[in-house]
Amino acid sequence: MATLENILGRAKKDIISANDLTSLDLTRVKYLGKKGELSALLKELGKLPPEERPSQGALINEQKKELVELLEVRKLEIRARVEEDKEKSEFIDITLPGIGSSTGALHPISQVLNRIENFFSSIGFSVVEGPEIEDDYHNFEALNIPKHHPARAMHDTFYFNKELLLRTHTSPVQVRVMEEQKPPIKIICPGRVYRVDQPDPSHLPMFHQVEGLVVDTNVTFADLKGMIIQFLRAFFEKEGLEIRFRPSYFPFTEPSAEVDVSCVNCDGKGCRVCSHTGWLEVMGSGMVHPRVLEYAGINSEEYTGLAFGMGPDRLAMLRYNISDLRYYLDNDLRFLDQFR
Ligand SMILES: [Zn+2]
Repeated sequence: MATLENILGRAKKDIISANDLTSLDLTRVKYLGKKGELSALLKELGKLPPEERPSQGALINEQKKELVELLEVRKLEIRARVEEDKEKSEFIDITLPGIGSSTGALHPISQVLNRIENFFSSIGFSVVEGPEIEDDYHNFEALNIPKHHPARAMHDTFYFNKELLLRTHTSPVQVRVMEEQKPPIKIICPGRVYRVDQPDPSHLPMFHQVEGLVVDTNVTFADLKGMIIQFLRAFFEKEGLEIRFRPSYFPFTEPSAEVDVSCVNCDGKGCRVCSHTGWLEVMGSGMVHPRVLEYAGINSEEYTGLAFGMGPDRLAMLRYNISDLRYYLDNDLRFLDQFR
């Protein structure tokens, strides 16, 4: 009898401490299996005196039944716990704040370039690109800026050698197009340009230009003016934007004009952005110098051309109220995130 009690005690302990179905089943086999401890005890009944056998057998069977029940209860407990754990691990708290998805965005200069390209494409211009490493001829000579011309001093040029340089403007692309294509020509040339400069709030050694060129019969200054007015009003999304053309000088256009708009920051009243003049200089323009047409092999008696150029870096500054050009190159997400 001591053995039976001992077996029962251990069996109950084992059942309670079984934490999963596998160890519970091992416990069952250990005590109740064919070779289990309780089964072994039943087999030993034969050794008892005949009169003790029935009561002893009944006792063992009773205890066996109890163990089976305990096993069953423990099995249900384990199953319920497994189910509960599963539910907990799969639970989604829909009241928690979501994890924001971060999407990229175009750089403000790219956005401005796109706006410019979209406008001019919509009125029939093609977008043309050219090499950033240029030769002296296309960057200067063919644009009516011969050696020792004072205008060269305005272009602080990065030279590779006497002949090759980093283009100082996108105008050489126009020359290349005129050399290869017969009029009518209607193009804009966006791209990067380079000048020797210390970076400061209004200067960068690398910046952008978009130049436009139209060559055809009967192209006039009125066409130039109309086109630029339309563009600037569309670009700044201001129907009544005031625009003035101021006589100027460029070696490759004659006549030449700088284009000013009424300050988009103060509406012409005068502020820091417009140096209290009420006007902002935004473009250069003019009629293509006949000599430039002739250089490219276009008959300047038959054809006339108009050209204009603008700086997307500065236009983006004005459009988005950016105070320092250097932000464009800093790669600071706090700056870039504002242009989604
Ligand atoms: Zn102003």
